[in-house]
Amino acid sequence: ANEKDTPIAEFLKGQINIATEYRGEIRPSDFEEYKSKEGFKALEKCLKEMNPDQIIDEIENSGLKGRGGAGFPSAIKWRLVKQAQSEKKYIICNGDEGDPGAFMDRMLLESYPFRVIEGIIIAAYAVGATEGRLYIRAEYPLAVERIREGIKICREKGILGKNILGSDFSFDMEIFEGAGAFVCGEETALIASIEGQRGIPKLRPPYPAEKGLWEQPTLINNTETFSLVPWILRNGADDFNKIGTEKSKGTKVFALAGKINRGGLIEVPMGITIRQIVEEIGGGIANGKKFKAVQIGGPSGGCIPADMADTTIDFDSLKEVGAMMGSGGLIVLDESDCMVDIARYFLSFTQEESCGRCTFCRIGTRRMLEILDKIKSGKGKLEDLDLLEKLAINTKKGSICGLGQTAPNPVLSTLKYFRHEYEAHIKGTCPSGKCEDLILYE
Ligand code: SF4
Repeated sequence: ANEKDTPIAEFLKGQINIATEYRGEIRPSDFEEYKSKEGFKALEKCLKEMNPDQIIDEIENSGLKGRGGAGFPSAIKWRLVKQAQSEKKYIICNGDEGDPGAFMDRMLLESYPFRVIEGIIIAAYAVGATEGRLYIRAEYPLAVERIREGIKICREKGILGKNILGSDFSFDMEIFEGAGAFVCGEETALIASIEGQRGIPKLRPPYPAEKGLWEQPTLINNTETFSLVPWILRNGADDFNKIGTEKSKGTKVFALAGKINRGGLIEVPMGITIRQIVEEIGGGIANGKKFKAVQIGGPSGGCIPADMADTTIDFDSLKEVGAMMGSGGLIVLDESDCMVDIARYFLSFTQEESCGRCTFCRIGTRRMLEILDKIKSGKGKLEDLDLLEKLAINTKKGSICGLGQTAPNPVLSTLKYFRHEYEAHIKGTCPSGKCEDLILYE
């Protein structure tokens, strides 16, 4: 067969590699190999030819938004930290990935450790930070090992430590291993965790950019965001800005998983449709089944039905249809999946991970779960759907952090697009057949 038609070629076609640049061509811990593929060129350019304001302007012109989920413009955060008056500033790379089905941070940290490190050093120089922390889940031992090795090599090569690459900029970083609480992905909880406190989110303001780690101005960005930085600085903001839609620039990394023929880590241009990802990159639904929906954004996101598969992947379009980009979980569902069961699964995850601080997140999600169990067991009533919706809306409003504010999304989106499935359960049938054995309570 022609090499161009192989499943791997099909899988890679339509992808644009920026965070995953030189995919498959660089051994992760091979410093010389990374250098031979333009590695640390962006850092050199920044230290020798650019001042911090020029770097932040370049990030602003690129249109880069944080890839951790909320899509906040990166340059605004960077500028706030740069302008903060303090002798000590910190930078944190958020690699605390915990969503079911997500492995974007893990793959980036394991496969491209030098790129993540380079992105962090550039950002540190731009904002004036002298110390950094890489917050990585302890459940990712290979990621921890590769980053540890990368930091050690960079210190030996004069890329970390005093007077980086002969400049007057000094910066160093270390790894902090997280203990696996999903809520620690929230930036104030993550900071508390590094400080040795319980990982509980705090009310904002003050934002970490003003008062972060040890009360000092702190820049926190997600792993993918830092991975994009070297490419942008090396190729220029315009090249990044050309990719994507009017308001969502560049690429997005997704962990494509579920009932798909070809799953894995993908990097796609913003503006691609869900259909293109499922059919062209993913090779369609596995085992000849029918495409039913995608759950995008993990437990914070929402379900989009197959008949809306022409929705484009960008921050605004996803919000419009009741989903959100999230950090990059993309789970494909087929006709055998029960949408009530899917909503219950994601809600039970966030319910368990709630830190318990806010009443709605702590108790509202518990009550929602009870209603879902009732519906799944065939004991639900139609009025329960209204109560479920009301609780979901109030939990979103009454929670102080992203976990509680987004936990009801899978329930709300399935109620919106698959209400008939909820109603069928109430009448005693599960359309997908998945809950049959649960429905037989009298
Ligand atoms: Fe904790 Fe939930 Fe409140 Fe976040 S929303 S602070 S996880 S109780």
